[in-house]
Amino acid sequence: HLVDSPLFAGRHFQRFDLDPGAKVPVHLNVFADQATSLVAKPEQLQAHRALVQQMYKLYGARHFDRYEFLLALTDKLGGIGLEHQRSSENSGEPGYFTEWDKTWLGRDLLPHEFNHSWNGKYRRGADLTTPNFNVPMGDSLLWLYEGQTQFWGQVLAARSGLWSVQQTRDVLANVAATYDRGRPGLGWRTLQDTTNDPTIAQRRALAFRNYQLSEDYYSGGQMMWLDVEGKLRALTGNRRGLDDFAKAFFGMNDGDWNVHPYTFDDVVTTLNGVAPFDWATFLRERLDGHGPLTGGLEAAGWRLVYTDTPNDAFKAQESRARTNNLLYSIGVSISDAGYISDVLWDSPAFNAGLAPGMTVLGLDGRVFNGQALKDAITAARTGKAPLTLLVKRVDRIDSVVLDYHDGLKYPSLERIGGRPDRLAELWKPR
Ligand SMILES: [Zn+2]
Repeated sequence: HLVDSPLFAGRHFQRFDLDPGAKVPVHLNVFADQATSLVAKPEQLQAHRALVQQMYKLYGARHFDRYEFLLALTDKLGGIGLEHQRSSENSGEPGYFTEWDKTWLGRDLLPHEFNHSWNGKYRRGADLTTPNFNVPMGDSLLWLYEGQTQFWGQVLAARSGLWSVQQTRDVLANVAATYDRGRPGLGWRTLQDTTNDPTIAQRRALAFRNYQLSEDYYSGGQMMWLDVEGKLRALTGNRRGLDDFAKAFFGMNDGDWNVHPYTFDDVVTTLNGVAPFDWATFLRERLDGHGPLTGGLEAAGWRLVYTDTPNDAFKAQESRARTNNLLYSIGVSISDAGYISDVLWDSPAFNAGLAPGMTVLGLDGRVFNGQALKDAITAARTGKAPLTLLVKRVDRIDSVVLDYHDGLKYPSLERIGGRPDRLAELWKPR
C-alpha cells in the first residue's frame, strides 16, 4: 500500500471534488507550474465528474475506499500516466483547462489510468501477480491489462464528454491505420510477442518502430477488443457487448481491495458467459496471427479509408510531435526543418534510401520546408516528374529521387451504408 500511494507536491494546488456527497470520495488534485493553470470551468469539471459516474456504470463495483487523481499541469516535470489502485499519477499541459480546445488530445489519460483501478490493479494477469518486487513479472496478458484499458479509456472519454464523438472517431481512425493491411511489423511479429517489450525494449528509442513493433498490445489490443465488441453484438443480436464482459470480469466484490488474478482461460470463460462462442480461437487468431486488426470497424458499420486531408486528431498529433506525418503517403515523418524522425518500412521513401536521422536540406532545387513537401506531393499527382531531395546523412550530402504520384494520404473513417452505427451506440453515455 505504501508503494501504491504516491505523492505529488507543488506550490500551486487546487482540489476538486468529483463525486460530491459520495461515501467513497473521488478527488481531482491539480498541481501546476503557474496558478493560472488551476482555473477550471464548470463544464470542464462536469466532464470529469461524468467520467466517475460512467466508470461506475461500466463496472458496478469499486475496489477502493477513496480515489485520488494526481494531475500535474506542467512543462517542467516529465510526462507521466501511472496507475495505482486508489490513485493515479498523471500529467497534462499547462493549458489542460485554460486551452481546452487545443489540449484535448491527452484527455483520455485520466479515463485510462482510472480504468486501471479495475483492470490492472484489482484484476491482474496471474503471471504479473508476484508476491513482492524481487520476483520477476510475466507480461503475457498485457493485451487485456493495457489493450482493454486503451479501449475503455477512449470510450469513457467519449461517454463522459471529455472528447466529442468526432474527436473520438478521428483518434480511432489514426489507431486503426496503424493496424491496417501493410503494417510492416505485423508481417513477422505478433501482438502476443510484443508483451515481451517491457522486458526487452524498456521504452528506449527504437529505429523503424513500425517494423520492430513495440508494446503494440496497447493499441493493437484496443483494436482486438473492438473486434470482440463487434462479435458479441453480432452473436447476441446487439443485446450484449464488451460492457457486459467488463462488468462480469472486473465488477465483482464491491469494496474488495485484494488483488484478484486471472488466466487466459478465465478470460475465455467470462466471454463465453456473455455469449457462447469459440473465444479461445478468436483471441488466439488475433494475438498470434499476422493479419490486419481492423475487423471491429466493419462490424461497427465503418471502414478505414485514406483521404488527402488530415483529421483534427492527426493534426494535433503532428503538432505535439512537431512533425509532418507523411507515413501513409511517401512514408516519412519529417520536421519543418527537414529532420526525418521516422520512415515506414518498405515505403517509397524507404525504398529510395531515406532513413531516420537524415536531414532533408533541399527539395526540387530549393531550400526544404514541410509545407513545400506537401505541396510537391500534391502536384506530383498530376505531374510525371519525380521529387528530388537533397539529403544530409552524417557528413555526406546525396541527391535522392522519389518517384511517387499517389498524393497525400491520411486515415479517416467512412460509414458503410445500410449498417447500424455501432460506434455511436458504444460512445453514448450510459
Ligand atoms: Zn495503462
